Amino acid sequence: MRGCSVADVGLSVVPLICGRCAARMTAGKEQVAYQCSGCGSVWELAGGRLALREVGHFAGNGTIRLPFWYASFSINCLEGCIDDSAGFMKLCGSAKSSAAVSEPPFVFVPAFSLPAQQAIRLGRNMTVRFPTLQTSIAQELSIEPVTLSEVDAPLMAELILLATLVEERRNNPSFLASFGAVLSGLRLVSIPFMREGNRLIQSGMNLEV
Ligand SMILES: [Zn+2]
Repeated sequence: MRGCSVADVGLSVVPLICGRCAARMTAGKEQVAYQCSGCGSVWELAGGRLALREVGHFAGNGTIRLPFWYASFSINCLEGCIDDSAGFMKLCGSAKSSAAVSEPPFVFVPAFSLPAQQAIRLGRNMTVRFPTLQTSIAQELSIEPVTLSEVDAPLMAELILLATLVEERRNNPSFLASFGAVLSGLRLVSIPFMREGNRLIQSGMNLEV
């Protein structure tokens, strides 16, 4: 319900008032976080109240900022615990070698509204590219609606990480039975995309939505 300014919490209703500048915020369908159009701060429901959500903004070309959950991760699997980029590159068959190989790998989980298959493909492509991201100096930038909540991000991250694996592993039942991923430092970030016709392009990461 676009234009609605309250959020349903079971039987009670929480007015969507920005806790920083007191502006009234609107809630779109499926939205789990709300951005104040007055001051740009982002709020989400926690325990029946609105809580401030920090958003990190990455620099790049484009004015449409798509939200992502972003975390470092380790994978437990038949090969043991994989917790650095070098090990993960090997696991996903990446030929890329320029990333800092002893650093932890990072997974990207689309947090905006996108069909699951597309979200998995986009998250997979970003994760296996090991992009080097610079933080934007601009703050409180306007982001597209967040529709995937923090509690749902780990399961989606696991599906994305499974999709990064080379086929022989993906089809190996004993590998899959032992597979598990642990995220750490999960945070919400935005990445700029450029509109081109009805597609969204991220030229620096060679991505298309
Ligand atoms: Zn505000």
